[in-house]
Amino acid sequence: MFWQVIKFLLLLLLGAVLGYLLSGSSSSGAGLGLFLVAISWLIFEQYKRANLLRWLQNPDFNVRPTKVGDLETIVDKVIRLQRAQEKLNEQSVQRLNDFLSAIQASPNGVMLLDAELRIEWCNQTAAQHLGIDMERDLLQLIPNLVRDPVFSQYLREERAGEEIVIQARTSRPESPRKISLQLFRYGEGRRLLLSRDITQIEQAEVMRRDFVANVSHEIRTPLTVLAGFIETLLTLPVTKEESQGYLELMAQQSTRMQTLVNDLLTLSKLEGSPVPSKSEWTPIMVLWQQCEQEARSLSKLLYSAQPQTLVFEIDESAHEFEIAGSRNELLSAMTNLVTNAVRYTPEGGSINVKLIRQVEAGFEFSVEDTGPGIAPEHLPRLTERFYRVDRSRSRESGGTGLGLAIVKHVAQRHDAQLNISSQLGKGSRFALRIPLERLRKVL
Ligand code: ADP
Repeated sequence: MFWQVIKFLLLLLLGAVLGYLLSGSSSSGAGLGLFLVAISWLIFEQYKRANLLRWLQNPDFNVRPTKVGDLETIVDKVIRLQRAQEKLNEQSVQRLNDFLSAIQASPNGVMLLDAELRIEWCNQTAAQHLGIDMERDLLQLIPNLVRDPVFSQYLREERAGEEIVIQARTSRPESPRKISLQLFRYGEGRRLLLSRDITQIEQAEVMRRDFVANVSHEIRTPLTVLAGFIETLLTLPVTKEESQGYLELMAQQSTRMQTLVNDLLTLSKLEGSPVPSKSEWTPIMVLWQQCEQEARSLSKLLYSAQPQTLVFEIDESAHEFEIAGSRNELLSAMTNLVTNAVRYTPEGGSINVKLIRQVEAGFEFSVEDTGPGIAPEHLPRLTERFYRVDRSRSRESGGTGLGLAIVKHVAQRHDAQLNISSQLGKGSRFALRIPLERLRKVL
């Protein structure tokens, strides 16, 4: 600025001197020179400003304006400011994108609504939960899109912060899905709608309730019988034979309770303990022999009049192998399958237990019986806790309804597969496939 003024004054001086000399040393000549220089300076300044203004009105920051003279410094400053602004914008956009990606990655749904309840933005999870198409439904009113009456009432009553549960759009009668929704206010009248798939939590809660009800029911029945006999023995005069008979029945009921509690403890251990390591090895023959022994003695106990035919067939190479995992768990799974076959096959029936080597796929332990068989609709639910096809048949033979649940857990914990096939009226086949990675040759 300072140099501009000096430059201007020098030019004025030059104009005055030139005017003075050219006019033959007249003072009016000097004045004219001064005036002409001042006018030219002004016109030139206006010209530069006009060029600069034209560029500023529609600036292309990659092409510098021409003919702006010393106003170049302003151009430099504008370009520098613009570059800094662009960088800031880029950073802000990047931060916004990171933020949106984080919300997109959330397993919960997030939706932003304006003051009129129009959808401003939502992540894919929320779109899925509420059946929204973000391209089609952007800026649509959420009450028009989600027509669940519980949700409509929730919006009407403005119970912000409170949680409600509605059916997911993808919910089907055969696979119901539940979504929890929570609305929060923010900014100027805006709303944040959070959604969460709580199907599994609800299912777990239903399972927990069913489990408690089942256990209570299973324990209450033998307890009632026991209490009845105790009362009879305490209050009524009974003969020695009668009391003997009562005590035997009481012993039966207490054994039933014991079996139930043992199975419950086994299940809870299976569910709560880490997967058995591959450092404990048990020879296959040890499991096999113990299993055969238990099956034969149970069969003898239950069907002494008309014995069942029990055939045990084992691959020749089996004695060379050991299985990695928990010996108790494996034994419990194998004996559960054979004792089930013994219990459910009527007297005179036959049971075929096999352990077959499957090249490339380990061993298959299978139990085939000529029992009543199971209708196809029951097959997928057999391994659920307390699921029984025939309750009284199960109880009569000392069943707890937990055996196959235990087998399923043991199989999962040992990378084994449980396959069940059955034909009503013909018999059933339960097979456990033990994979190669759980086997090794006896050292
Ligand atoms: P339970 O203690 O009642 O036998 P499980 O979990 O072992 O319980 O078996 C579940 C149900 O599966 C049984 O109640 C029974 O109805 C059916 N089941 C199991 N094994 C057999 C079998 N070998 N033949 C027919 N039904 C069977």
